Amino acid sequence: MDSELRSQAARYVQLLRRSGKKDAWLPAGLTRRLPTGSMQSSPSPLPSSKSPATRDRRPVTPSPSPVSHLPSATTSSPNPQSAIRNPIQIPEGTKAERLAALKKQTSGCTICPHLAKSRTQVVFGVGDPEAKLMFVGEAPGADEDAQGEPFVGRAGQLLTKMIAAMELSRAQVYIANVLKCRPDMPSNTSGNRKPTRDEMEACLPYLRAQVAVIGPQVIVALGATAVEGLFGPQKTPISRLRGTWLELDGVPVRPTFHPSYLLRNQNLTEKRKVWEDLLAAMERLGLPISEKQRGFFLKA
Ligand code: URA
Repeated sequence: MDSELRSQAARYVQLLRRSGKKDAWLPAGLTRRLPTGSMQSSPSPLPSSKSPATRDRRPVTPSPSPVSHLPSATTSSPNPQSAIRNPIQIPEGTKAERLAALKKQTSGCTICPHLAKSRTQVVFGVGDPEAKLMFVGEAPGADEDAQGEPFVGRAGQLLTKMIAAMELSRAQVYIANVLKCRPDMPSNTSGNRKPTRDEMEACLPYLRAQVAVIGPQVIVALGATAVEGLFGPQKTPISRLRGTWLELDGVPVRPTFHPSYLLRNQNLTEKRKVWEDLLAAMERLGLPISEKQRGFFLKA
């Protein structure tokens, strides 16, 4: 760490101490529920989210930022350690160019040496850099690690169907995970493990940078771990968080169940709950909703 970075970090720690915050990994976003109707005034249907060129070319400094923007990290931001360990530089350019630059930086990440060693590749994200709707999952599984794309395994296929039910395609939205590397597993074991808090903290700046570049109007957080990755550990279970709006860096976030939960639990009622979250996201985006869509997964 160079001396400027070190002194900025020290100033930030002082700032946190003075404000009585020992740990900036706060679930404060959860206390800032969006008031009804607080969405941007004129949402327009997808996929027409081309921003004005001026906005498109603005250099993005993700938050929690490199330490020069640290004071803004005192509310809903993760542990300052991650910002210090993971300063992100994004050059100017179009959203696609900035996302490509971010992907390049992410691809060489060795902040978690054990994951850098075990992964086949970094799974950055996929979709439209101009997307208005973003899905955030937990971490790549074996299929995603092999293919380099999020949500391509069984849960991913279900997510693709859910997106299709919204009359959208994967190419019209953006899909990413909190963690960009597959959590390593002991050799000769299958399955997945939940990312640790340290891993999520270290990786979250990449996701926030993706959000800052893309500028979605709505984020759907898939499952409790995605919510934990975005906002820190929660006392409220996902079953009670879903159905509500949270907020990340000014972007409305709709928590819902992870598609893998729906694969385990084929109950119509649970499918309907997820569908209601997706309908709420569509409403917030101003997307057209047919009567048929409104009736999906209701008992006959
Ligand atoms: N589950 C996730 O949370 N993300 C993926 O990319 C795949 C499965």
